This record gives sequence, C-alpha cells and structure tokens, in this order.
Amino acid sequence: MSDPYDDQNIFAKILRAEIPSFKVYEDDETYCFMDIMPRTRGHCLVIPKTPCRNLLDATPQQLADCMATVNRVAKAAKTAFNADGITLWQFSEAAGGQEVFHLHFHIHPRHAGVPIRPPGVMGDMDEIKNHAEAIIAALE
Ligand code: AMP
Repeated sequence: MSDPYDDQNIFAKILRAEIPSFKVYEDDETYCFMDIMPRTRGHCLVIPKTPCRNLLDATPQQLADCMATVNRVAKAAKTAFNADGITLWQFSEAAGGQEVFHLHFHIHPRHAGVPIRPPGVMGDMDEIKNHAEAIIAALE
C-alpha cells in the first residue's frame, strides 16, 4: 500500500508559493513550471493544483485536467524549441522512478538523434528562465 499524500512535498510548496518556480502556464486546476534539473531543453512539469500523490490515486478529473494542460504546453514547447517531437513521462512510486510525491507529468521537447541527458544536474537559472519565456510566447 502507498503512503498517504504529504503536503510538505516540494511541489505542494511551489503551489503555495513557499518556494519559487519558473511558471509557464496555469489555470484553475493545473500549474506548469520548468524543471530545475532539465533533462532536455524546455523540460517542464504539469501538476494538478489539488492533492494527489501520483497516477495511482489520481481521479479521472485530475488526469483529464492535467492532460489538457500537457496538450497545450507540449504544442507550445514544440514550437518554441523547433522540436521534432515530444516525450511525456509520468513516474509513480519510488519503484517507478518517482522522487517528488505530487502527481506530475514531464514534457520533453525532442530533436531527432539528441538523447535525454542524465539526471541530477542543476540547470542554469538564466537559461531556464529564457526557456520558460520562449514557451510562454508560443502558447496560444
Ligand atoms: P520524478 O519525481 O522522478 O518524476 O521527478 C521529479 C522532478 O522534479 C525531477 O526532474 C527534478 O529535477 C524536479 N524538481 C525537483 N525539485 C524541483 C524544483 N524545486 N523545481 C522544479 N523542478 C524540481
């Protein structure tokens, strides 16, 4: 059985603006911001504003809301980075690769032949800010 939702997780703190984030998009149900250890140029995350640990306790409505935002931001990110495609990740529970226990979807703009970078490398904050602005500019 999974642990319960912990409202001290880092994405809950981002939602409460207790720690900063590079916002890309938000609506009443979801929030999108840049990953600070980007594995691709333009790597960003979509989360629900309501508590949810991962795919396994998500409601159909939370998933639908997140997917609407994923769809919107993915198209903007593809345009912003002149990407050839998009890779979408979702990890559930530690065994599934999850490290932050608030449901999130990773959006990766992809270029043909360019691999996803290794994990755990902090990005350049000026560059991440510029990438957020590029996606925002491409949002319809
Ligand atoms: P995972 O739980 O494995 O799906 O991934 C969690 C992701 O959150 C990783 O890609 C981290 O780089 C990212 N991350 C961790 N802390 C922050 C933060 N404060 N702001 C933005 N991204 C973060």
